[in-house]
Amino acid sequence: MTPDALKVADDLVVSMHYTLTLDDGEVVDSSVKGDPLQFLQGFGQIIPGLEKELYGMAIGDNKKVVVAAVDGYGEIDPDAFQVVPRSIFPEELDLEEGMGLRMRDQASGQLIETYVAEIRADEVLLDFNHPLAGEVLTFDIEITGLRAASDEELAHGHVH
Ligand code: ZN
Repeated sequence: MTPDALKVADDLVVSMHYTLTLDDGEVVDSSVKGDPLQFLQGFGQIIPGLEKELYGMAIGDNKKVVVAAVDGYGEIDPDAFQVVPRSIFPEELDLEEGMGLRMRDQASGQLIETYVAEIRADEVLLDFNHPLAGEVLTFDIEITGLRAASDEELAHGHVH
């Protein structure tokens, strides 16, 4: 098979330019001013709703892919909100709604990302949903490169 005949399939390294737009027209992410995104197809390295639309595309192909929230970052989980006392934060920390915070999970000890959803008198409502949860994602993509992955890349599960 010649390189031009390659089409997106599992175990290929895909290079792709993308622009991600939300329903309200806000562009939240784009690769076009920098290097294309590189990933191994079929390894779940990009969101599933986008990955499955790439199969069969060739270098130079463009596509608009609309991904429902459930195939993107998930629906907003109403159980992923938590009220905490304002006093757990340092007094000098200037809390603002929408602000991202890193908290250490008491059980696992891992750092997790959360967002300030609401500031009340003595309490703060934290939102542990992904910031793009509940959003319909529109990707404008262009395949810019395709190649076979090396054995080492396949063994490691990422592009070198
Ligand atoms: Zn590696």
